[in-house]
Amino acid sequence: MHPLAQLDHKFVWHPFTQMRDWLKNEPIVIVSGKESVLRDVKGRDYLDANASIWTNLHGHQHPKINAAINRQLKKISHSSALGFANEPASLLAERLVKVANPKGKKLGLDGVSPHLGKVFFSDDGSTAMEVALKLAYAFARRNGRKRPKFLSLDGAYHGDTIGAVSLGHIDLFHKAYGGLLFKSDKTPAPYCYRCPHNRAKPERADARTYRKCNWECIGKLEKQFVAQKKKKNPYAAFVFEPLMQGAAGMIAQPEGWLRRAADVARGHGAQLIADEVMTGFGRAGQASRLSPFSKKVRHRQACPTVFACQNEGVQPDFMALAKGLTGGYLPMAATLTTQKVFDAFLGRYDEFKTFFHGHSFTGNQLGASAALASLEILQSAESIRARKILERTLREELAKLWDLPNIGDIRQVGLVVGIELVRDWRTREPFDLRERAGIRVCDAMAKNGVLTRPVGNVIVLLPPYSTTQAQARQMVRAVYKACEETFRK
Ligand code: PMP
Repeated sequence: MHPLAQLDHKFVWHPFTQMRDWLKNEPIVIVSGKESVLRDVKGRDYLDANASIWTNLHGHQHPKINAAINRQLKKISHSSALGFANEPASLLAERLVKVANPKGKKLGLDGVSPHLGKVFFSDDGSTAMEVALKLAYAFARRNGRKRPKFLSLDGAYHGDTIGAVSLGHIDLFHKAYGGLLFKSDKTPAPYCYRCPHNRAKPERADARTYRKCNWECIGKLEKQFVAQKKKKNPYAAFVFEPLMQGAAGMIAQPEGWLRRAADVARGHGAQLIADEVMTGFGRAGQASRLSPFSKKVRHRQACPTVFACQNEGVQPDFMALAKGLTGGYLPMAATLTTQKVFDAFLGRYDEFKTFFHGHSFTGNQLGASAALASLEILQSAESIRARKILERTLREELAKLWDLPNIGDIRQVGLVVGIELVRDWRTREPFDLRERAGIRVCDAMAKNGVLTRPVGNVIVLLPPYSTTQAQARQMVRAVYKACEETFRK
């Protein structure tokens, strides 16, 4: 075993990992990366098919981001936001406000949508959500609600800190900490493939495209809001990942769901908290979504959206950003909110309305510099074009997987793909988690030079935007081959 792998085995405890299994095999030790390729200590190359756990946007060692960090290194790496402002954080806040509030009717925004004009920086997705939660809670209390209550989606995952976990609904991750959590309610996620209200028989297509239902999920949501109002404690906020729930199993929402759900929540006076930690920064694609009514891809607008909410013309009151914010280079996050929320924390010093929350690295200069460079790349014509091509290539290639009997559903939203493995597509029968079907397929893919990580029985493809068409084909081929190898009788 390589000495670095030995050190890892001896000292490192890995996240979301059964360490007994981990210690059985020599780990892949990554030493470098270039564009969409990772290289290990033995000189082997792999495609980074999940963008290093959904963080990387433009590829590794992007010359513009490298240069921006290097320039900043020559000035200062970090000074505290507790007491001081700094150059890149101020510039980044301005830039984020600009991209989070697109002008005009092009996106279907209704003109009365909240203006996300204030930015609170933190460190990662969990802290960005923690900040949104605390702000929404305090805001609701200051507006007369005694015990503000939150509603989130079934299967929700918003991070691993206690507040974020309390908004989550994945028993496997969250049950063990029940005693530490506050209670939040859940509403059905629009999981068309396994929805009890979907009367359609399985087909060889994304279940959203052939579903037969009457939006029962929205009906249920409406009922929950009404019932909660009757209890004289209407929901303070509705929390969701827009267009695609990641850790829930890459559950993609049918077109129109988000708009409808947001309208219901707003109609009942709830604030909207959008977790764009995975879906933000162009991940959700070009607002060209599969229409539930036709199998054609519709291009509703020429301009790509930066945030998933914008694809459905929904503007939240809080938007949590992390992962791709710095192009996936450095841990940095931001929670955007409105002037109205900001104002609720203003007062005389001795009123102690201050938002008592912050982290040592809030507003870090290196992270902010990387983020500024990343946003510039993201909005360049070259990147927009490349993302369009990558999205289309993936769509075309993924269609080939329908040959395989163990592929149940393929859900693509922009540059995120979830491929649900089943025992038999005709029955939708799932694999028992203990069979580790997803893990086995990903292990086989790694042997073919493609690295990703499953969410349960769902294989994730979430490539960096630098991924070429040939590399995208290689990723999908690796899924195909791995499924053949894994499920061969
Ligand atoms: N929200 C979403 C939607 C996520 O996917 C994640 C992480 N996978 C988080 C929050 C938490 O982010 P982090 O791991 O950076 O704390």
